[in-house]
Amino acid sequence: MPASDLVNLSGLMDDAKCFALVRQHRWPEGVCCPGCGSSSVIRDGCDDTQPHRQRYRCKACAGRFDDLTGTVLAAILFTLRFGWRR
Ligand SMILES: [Zn+2]
Repeated sequence: MPASDLVNLSGLMDDAKCFALVRQHRWPEGVCCPGCGSSSVIRDGCDDTQPHRQRYRCKACAGRFDDLTGTVLAAILFTLRFGWRR
């Protein structure tokens, strides 16, 4: 996806859609643990400051992660989005 598309997207979407897009790209077939690859993942609340940012806990390795952990797309998207707001 060209950077210009990301800029347009991040300007048009609200927070919920941003996170939905990240999830869709990252886990098209369901959430997997970035640590061990297991799909035995349960939701574990949401981020305190970003209510649409879902947190997860892996039942296989007990690792914790969230929508943005270790994602390049998310890093770009959210730098653009939240960088502009300040
Ligand atoms: Zn795991």
